[in-house]
Amino acid sequence: MLHRPVTGLSALLARLPSQCAVCRAWPSRPVCDACVARFAPPASRCATCALPVPAGVARCGECLRHPPPLDACLAACSYVWPWPECIAAFKFRGEVGWAHPFATLLRSTPWVEPALDQSDLVLPMPLAPGRLRERGFNQALELARRLAPAKTDATLLLRTRDTAAQHDLPRAERLRNLRGVFALEPLRADAVKGRRIVLVDDVMTSGASVFAAAEVLRAGGAAHIAVIVLARTDPPQ
Ligand SMILES: [Zn+2]
Ligand SMILES: [Zn+2]
Repeated sequence: MLHRPVTGLSALLARLPSQCAVCRAWPSRPVCDACVARFAPPASRCATCALPVPAGVARCGECLRHPPPLDACLAACSYVWPWPECIAAFKFRGEVGWAHPFATLLRSTPWVEPALDQSDLVLPMPLAPGRLRERGFNQALELARRLAPAKTDATLLLRTRDTAAQHDLPRAERLRNLRGVFALEPLRADAVKGRRIVLVDDVMTSGASVFAAAEVLRAGGAAHIAVIVLARTDPPQ
């Protein structure tokens, strides 16, 4: 059965006192401060892909071997319980009310506020038009709007088509799959030239999509590219 977004109702519910969605402490919304502190602890992460690294290490081995086309990459939490459930409620059940607490969580992540302050443009990772019609909203745009409403531009970076799930593919194939998927709006391609860009997404898995989008921005002359994601998938153990 399809869960259609019930935006009005979700927005109303988000304003009502309710239990913490994780520990059921009451009243707080939708995740209490104690759960945020417990499940999104500050972590030492790779500067260009946000994977966990030992304290004092700037970049992971993979980024040293294949430097991604990014200047910075910041993640609020690992994609582990309870966040996948919370993000699924936001993204697939249309509970747009989650955007506000997620944005708060992102703002409290070290270096996110300075990255937003120093940026000229904040671009949500785009969805393909078909996916956008099906979901009714772009979760990355909802986050970007709450992080930097005046700088958010949802029409500059475009996604020309959808790609199949990428997780199981080898690196080279993932990159090949993504060739030509992202593009700048042809009439406004100059808008990124010399600019500091923040790219926003909800979940970063292999990183192949944000890297492909960043390559397009780089080719367009962007001066600095930072990625801000809510949750980062940990490497397989
Ligand atoms: Zn809680
Ligand atoms: Zn890395």
